[in-house]
Amino acid sequence: MDVISIVSLVLLFASWVFVMMGCASAAWGKGFNQAQWLAAGFLLGPIALLVLIAMPPNAEVQRERKLAAGVAKECPTCLELVRPAARQCPHCGSDLPQAH
Ligand SMILES: [Zn+2]
Repeated sequence: MDVISIVSLVLLFASWVFVMMGCASAAWGKGFNQAQWLAAGFLLGPIALLVLIAMPPNAEVQRERKLAAGVAKECPTCLELVRPAARQCPHCGSDLPQAH
């Protein structure tokens, strides 16, 4: 095996690992199972990454993150997310309890 083929193998391996890392981080950002997508990235490489990018995010996980981060609160009437300082729900129009 000559030097050039060793170098291209190393580069291929490095870009494959890079794609797998991309899958794991995109999966986390969209609220999917990181380990599953890391495995998908390992098996499918760039195809898994493209599929992941095309998929809509997990709305439930993103909702929980917004609530946990305090950038949104839940309207007790319609359960839609509203801004923390809102006094009236923009979705259903009901009065919201003030946290402060
Ligand atoms: Zn509401």
